[in-house]
Amino acid sequence: MAPDLWFSPLALALLGLCVGSFLNVVAHRLPKVLEREWWLDVAENQLGDADAWRRVSGRKGAPPAAFAQAAQAISDALQALAPISLARPRSRCPSCGHVLRWHENLPLIGWLRLKGRCASCDTAISKRYPLVELATGLLFAACGWKFGAQAQTLVWCAAVALMVAMALIDLDTTYLPDDLTLPLIGLGLLGAGLGWTGVELEDAAWGAFAGYGALWLLAFSYRKLRGVEGMGEGDFKLLAGLGALLGWQLLPSIVLLASGVGAVVGIGLIAFGGHKREVPIPFGPYLVGGGIAAIFFGQTLTRLWFPTL
Ligand SMILES: [Zn+2]
Repeated sequence: MAPDLWFSPLALALLGLCVGSFLNVVAHRLPKVLEREWWLDVAENQLGDADAWRRVSGRKGAPPAAFAQAAQAISDALQALAPISLARPRSRCPSCGHVLRWHENLPLIGWLRLKGRCASCDTAISKRYPLVELATGLLFAACGWKFGAQAQTLVWCAAVALMVAMALIDLDTTYLPDDLTLPLIGLGLLGAGLGWTGVELEDAAWGAFAGYGALWLLAFSYRKLRGVEGMGEGDFKLLAGLGALLGWQLLPSIVLLASGVGAVVGIGLIAFGGHKREVPIPFGPYLVGGGIAAIFFGQTLTRLWFPTL
């Protein structure tokens, strides 16, 4: 088949629907997998370790005996759980355990045919699943429509996929895992190095440094002024990734677009959602919104203050 057909908005929309379905799995399981790894690391490497105990307590000698028992208990409990990975087990209904048949698992269509209810126990299936699939499909199609049949399109699709997973996990857990943010930085640098993103490698590298540094500085000042944590390290790495993908020149546009997305959503939530102003809203989804908007409109916006670009 001709490359034009593979990169057509329709083909990319179909690919996006399938990728979106996988992103739902990633958002659901990756935090679990990572938290289990963290618990296991604490049990196996921290609790019994005399050096770790000395650092924590300032005392010499072996850690208390109860630590070893706790480590064993945690380890045993984790071993007893059914193993979980991104590939296994097959998707099930969280209510009744019904294993989804292939046609129930089809992106978007599966949910529509089931009318949003489990075939076995009739429990409602969250609208989030089809919405994530639809959004990913539309964004992939938009990448194909805007950038056409070239390698660049695949870089933007991959970036969109990573960012959608990040936004979902940040909403659920308020964490942005390194397993997603670091690949975004890598994708940006690789894309620039191969000449696929149209960004000079040097500008991409400066984008990563400046993206991380700018948010770090903002968070540091906020902590000094208000005495509270505003952002986490995951947010710094996410903006580093966007800086690497789009180049340092686009960072002001990304932050501006993210603030715009944040303001619109924040006002909407306070006005219609009954969201209390004091409850912190994770910053990651706004950066993701700003980053995706910047892929499409960042260059145009940036030309307003860097007319030479
Ligand atoms: Zn069910």
